[in-house]
Amino acid sequence: MKTLPLSLFIVLVLLAPRTAHAWEEMKGDHFILYYQGTDRSFADRVLEKAESYYDGIARALGYSRRSEFWLWDHRCKIYLYETKDAFHSETRQAAWSSGFAIPSKREIVSYQSSEKFLDCVLPHEMAHLIFRDFTGARNGMIPLWLDEGLALAQEEARQERENEFDQWVQKMMSEKKWIPIKVLSQIRSLKGFAAGEAVLFYAEAQSVVRFLLSSGETFQFAGFCRDLRDGTSLEAALRKNYPKVFPTLEVFDQKWIAAQMNRDELHLLSPGGGED
Ligand SMILES: [Zn+2]
Repeated sequence: MKTLPLSLFIVLVLLAPRTAHAWEEMKGDHFILYYQGTDRSFADRVLEKAESYYDGIARALGYSRRSEFWLWDHRCKIYLYETKDAFHSETRQAAWSSGFAIPSKREIVSYQSSEKFLDCVLPHEMAHLIFRDFTGARNGMIPLWLDEGLALAQEEARQERENEFDQWVQKMMSEKKWIPIKVLSQIRSLKGFAAGEAVLFYAEAQSVVRFLLSSGETFQFAGFCRDLRDGTSLEAALRKNYPKVFPTLEVFDQKWIAAQMNRDELHLLSPGGGED
């Protein structure tokens, strides 16, 4: 084997990509955490929080029996980069992204951002994984707004954000710049979305999901999700599970806009108002 001249060796070493910090591993009942750096106390808190969200989110989405799937070899893996920069340069996510979930691998990838990760990113990405356990990881029948709206509803600091999001949707509606439900339902990925476009998408997603949840009983919403999972179209799933309230997608769109523009209307459509 030829040996490299020392000068070339030094050049190669200097040009080689900087090695990222090694991954530390920490195991819990339902999670395996991989983290960079030495902040073991933060890692402890992540595992603790993840376990406490685990039952709550599964129950909120109505899938508590399925939650037992997250044991042993089926544990959820959480990868936490040490910094935001490392996360973005390694994963190539959009600049506005704080994390993402890979349902087919049951993985969550994010970075250490203390409270924001614990209160928002972690429950949000866990909700995606639990919901996708139910629908199937690659089920193309589930609109992205439903997946995102449900995930946003699991964040701890959601209330303040809901108000901001609602105001934003109202503003866009009054300026006729909102995304109608038909178009919203065709959005399958936010890749390439600018920050402003992504905000409008998330704002509408949480608004539509909350509107739907407040328009009937829990079993109706569960039936709606199950029918979508099993291949029913959005309009047919609405009609089947909310026959009197939403006979067509157009009626759903009109009632959602009315509810969003007038909070009293939303009150009228809350459980009891939607009599299906
Ligand atoms: Zn999400």
